[in-house]
Amino acid sequence: MSDTIFSKIINREIPAEIIYEDDLALAFKDISPQAPVHFLVIPKKPIPQISAAESEDQALLGHLLLTAKLVAEQVGLGNGYRIVINNGADGGQTVYHLHLHILGGRQLQWPPG
Ligand code: AMP
Repeated sequence: MSDTIFSKIINREIPAEIIYEDDLALAFKDISPQAPVHFLVIPKKPIPQISAAESEDQALLGHLLLTAKLVAEQVGLGNGYRIVINNGADGGQTVYHLHLHILGGRQLQWPPG
């Protein structure tokens, strides 16, 4: 898979506001926040999109959700938040390195557009 901007963030080739890191995952603030709190959780493994994940990624995918929960608690989203994965063109995905959006800090509407 070709390098994306998120690989460059993992490798510290471009700056980002990193708020969590472990062996498997990284969390950083979205550069164009859609809510008062908006951060991304990504795997260090360059899975391009959720539809490209395989059964061997099962534990990693669980880890990403638990990381999202942990960081959401750490940044004070006790009143709730939304976790979003955009997949492919119709899903509105623009960066082809799997990422979870975590949005909160205001009342979110449903359904999304
Ligand atoms: P998606 O449309 O689901 O692929 O989301 C990609 C997200 O990455 C968007 O919300 C962008 O604002 C965000 N983004 C793109 N480049 C950067 C960057 N350099 N640092 C942080 N967030 C970024």
